[in-house]
Amino acid sequence: LADMQAEVLDRIPRLGAIEVAFAEAVGAVLAEDVIAPENLPGFENAAMDGFAVVASDLDQPSVELDVIDDVAAGSIPAAKIESGTAARIMTGAPIPPGADAVVPVEATSMTSEGRVRVLEPATVGDHVRPVGGSVRAGSLVFEAGLRLRPPHVSVLASMGVLPLVRRRPIVAVMSTGDELVPPSTQMLEPGAIRDSNRTLLRGLLTELGVEVRDYGIVGDTSGSFEAALGDAIDGADVVVTSGGVSMGAYDVVKLTLLERGTVDFLRIAMQPGKPLGFGTVGETPFFGLPGNPVSVFVSFEQFVRPALLGMMGAEHLFRDRVPGILDDGITTNPEKDVFVRVTTDRDAGGRWHARLSGGQSSNVLSALAFADALAVVPVGVGRVEPGGTVDLEMIHW
Ligand code: AMP
Ligand code: MG
Repeated sequence: LADMQAEVLDRIPRLGAIEVAFAEAVGAVLAEDVIAPENLPGFENAAMDGFAVVASDLDQPSVELDVIDDVAAGSIPAAKIESGTAARIMTGAPIPPGADAVVPVEATSMTSEGRVRVLEPATVGDHVRPVGGSVRAGSLVFEAGLRLRPPHVSVLASMGVLPLVRRRPIVAVMSTGDELVPPSTQMLEPGAIRDSNRTLLRGLLTELGVEVRDYGIVGDTSGSFEAALGDAIDGADVVVTSGGVSMGAYDVVKLTLLERGTVDFLRIAMQPGKPLGFGTVGETPFFGLPGNPVSVFVSFEQFVRPALLGMMGAEHLFRDRVPGILDDGITTNPEKDVFVRVTTDRDAGGRWHARLSGGQSSNVLSALAFADALAVVPVGVGRVEPGGTVDLEMIHW
């Protein structure tokens, strides 16, 4: 598994860099380091609504000051604050020249003559946001490879830096199988099943923030598969299919693409998800995922998701793993990395615990839906006793 993951990452291309609008940047990956072009904040400003003062005036409780200015956010102070004076000031407004602290309005009262009485002492810098206190001009703010979350984009927005990110892949999906009918079908013919894989793949791709092109259900004949594939590679950066890659007599993806010689059909030492087709069709990277729904998920997680993040230029490609305690024991094939669907929670000591979320056959989709993690029982380990330790690959925190 690890060897093949490395090979996939080695072979997929990195997409080009583009400038995007702030609103479209969430989920995209920075293509270059971001150096702050300016300080944040750019000017000294008030952290509270209150009064800008000279701190040394307030060396005793209850000092009265003349209010000589009123500074709102967005306005420019009109007066210099000297000893004995203060300016009313609002959060975010520039600190007037001469002032070196802000006393919150809660620590003041007004006298009948319109002066402010400050009830508490102050020290220099109180409730003043210094220039560059959030980001220093010239500093490295974010590194290339960072997948932008909304707070990252808001930092870029506050500096006016339009992000240069890598283009997001366009991913073509299709399901193969003569037994498949659209999921909206109510009356099933004997032997027919609803196509659930495409819904799963589309959802996973959408969550990843890539563009999906759906080529629907394709029958198990080379002709129909070739036709759909021809359309799919036209304009897509990656093609992902499900079904038809194992050892069956009608495995159309394998039978069709073996002839072309540009896609390898492998047996990965993992479970679920043993069969995998990977290569290129034309210039386009191609993933032929298995048909069993849980295999589709695990193969997507282990190969497609990291590959797409790699194409987007991300630094962090794999899901986080945390150590946990498998409350249920399990026996697995010691020659494979086995991914066990589990539900997790934390005990009072903060340790993660996992229990099987249902049957572990690769068709038991319900146990996947109930799961929030995959417990990994690696090659070389064939048995985890109840209470044994496993790595939990968190698929949903
Ligand atoms: P295959 O690898 O094509 O033989 O498919 C393996 C198993 O997965 C078979 O039981 C198929 O019926 C099932 N399967 C294949 N494609 C889908 C799909 N799109 N949705 C749900 N089940 C599928
Ligand atoms: Mg099939």
